[in-house]
Amino acid sequence: MSEPGGVTPAQLRELAARAAELVDAIEAARAGLAGDSHTRHTGYRLADAAGWARQVGADLAATAEDLARLRSRGPVTCPAEWGCCPDHGGTLRSSGGRCWCVAPGCGRTWDYDRDGQPCTEPAAYEVRGVGDAPDVWGLLCAGHTITARAQVDGIEVRPLAAAAGGAR
Ligand SMILES: [Zn+2]
Ligand SMILES: [Zn+2]
Repeated sequence: MSEPGGVTPAQLRELAARAAELVDAIEAARAGLAGDSHTRHTGYRLADAAGWARQVGADLAATAEDLARLRSRGPVTCPAEWGCCPDHGGTLRSSGGRCWCVAPGCGRTWDYDRDGQPCTEPAAYEVRGVGDAPDVWGLLCAGHTITARAQVDGIEVRPLAAAAGGAR
């Protein structure tokens, strides 16, 4: 379980909590300055400062969630560098930190940039004929197998024979 840099989601959440404390402290200072007619105008930067600190906290929290999702991947995970719909493959669109499948009738949505992050689906098929090494069998999840079949002529696909113990 050693990870690059050893950074954990908990560490990032801790940093986000410190940013939230900073926001509170800045807001308290701002309120203190505003309560005195001699100092009222000196605090004009603090609204922006609190806003920056809020953004810092939001970015840290979002990073913690992205990292937690990656860490939760199972032992036999699809190696694709981008996410897909588990049922439809490369049919995702994303905007403003949300993602959805555009396949008719699907209706799946995700509250993160799924198509911009590595796939988190379990490997379900072995596929040959794609990528840089077309003679080698590689692993793909169900969704990415759909996309590979649609986009690449002549690929071979076989079910992954219970390599993951059937675990999902
Ligand atoms: Zn879909
Ligand atoms: Zn995949």
